[in-house]
Amino acid sequence: MLAVGMLRDTPGVHSFELPMPRIEQPDEVLVRVKEVGLDGTDFGMLRHGAQDIAEDRNEMAMGHEMVGVVEGVGDGVKSLAPGDAVVMTVRRGCGICHPCLHNQSDMCMTGLYTERGIHKRDGYLTQFVVDQEQYIVKVPPGLRKHAVFTEPASIAEKGIDQIRIIQSRLPWTCSHPDHTFLSAEWGMCKTALVVGAGPLGLLAAALLRLANVRTYVADIVPEDNPKVHLVEHMKAIYIDARGKKPEELVQLCCVVGGNLDVIFEAAGAAATAVELIPYMSRSSIYVMTGIPRGDLVIQLDAAQLVRQLVRYNQVVVGSVNSNRSHFEMALKDIERIQTELGGMLDEMITHRFKLDEWEKAFALDDPKHIKTVIEVDPWD
Ligand SMILES: [Zn+2]
Ligand SMILES: [Zn+2]
Repeated sequence: MLAVGMLRDTPGVHSFELPMPRIEQPDEVLVRVKEVGLDGTDFGMLRHGAQDIAEDRNEMAMGHEMVGVVEGVGDGVKSLAPGDAVVMTVRRGCGICHPCLHNQSDMCMTGLYTERGIHKRDGYLTQFVVDQEQYIVKVPPGLRKHAVFTEPASIAEKGIDQIRIIQSRLPWTCSHPDHTFLSAEWGMCKTALVVGAGPLGLLAAALLRLANVRTYVADIVPEDNPKVHLVEHMKAIYIDARGKKPEELVQLCCVVGGNLDVIFEAAGAAATAVELIPYMSRSSIYVMTGIPRGDLVIQLDAAQLVRQLVRYNQVVVGSVNSNRSHFEMALKDIERIQTELGGMLDEMITHRFKLDEWEKAFALDDPKHIKTVIEVDPWD
């Protein structure tokens, strides 16, 4: 069967044949891939020639955002049946550490995990995949056409989950006892800045808006870019960051309420990410999800930085990957995004290609690009 990805020691993206996978264990499921989303990780791996192919292989299929349909199940599979629409998680645990042994491989302690389409394991840019039931999440019938967003939304879910868990240390951000970070109404009376209006930033902003957080989204695109339209569509506020210093960005978010409770970094721009830290509000939290590549050295006043983090009780936290629980949260919220934020997901898919058009998909250079979806086997 056809697969698209990397060949060892050969730059760029290529097509190659992979053997048709078969169910060999009772807990395995055969999935026909329907759609695969491409994201900044895919393009960044190619741009930087970062190859993470398994030692015993010469190729690795790319693609880690997918939706598919169950074709067959092993004898021991209980939660899935042929015909079910499904999404599959990305990381496969190290099998050693306690987080991995307890379905929390996103928090792996050894670093010996693998990741489909990213790190030493074939991804989903192919026609069929076999995997264990525990990594496969059923998609409710009405959501299959938007389920390709589950993986990126799960990354945003985890980041926001981290914020809420950590900030539960702070029950009194406002005068309302039901606005604590772990309550259903947690977003009320709170302000967030999302840095980066790519798919992850937009999804994070959408989740913040579902929680009624006053949300600002900063990027470096002009007002006529479709990203800006999407930001405004979800009643968030766009900030054109071009030519603005970090303190100006933060000041723009603080004009109304004073404090900036949350910064969600989703751009992977190392300098901007770090330069915002000195302008964090007191007792606030800053979650970083973008992963910059290469090196970048900047000057920082270390004493000032440490003084501020301590004196202001600030938290800067990194958040990577996601586990099954975040996929389940994402599917619930994808439905809410469609019903409560007016169907913005369709507009986020700016480009669609068939699997045999993969060269065009990877060569795409369009300033209005947000999300590319490759239709491996188009929905009816
Ligand atoms: Zn582990
Ligand atoms: Zn309140």
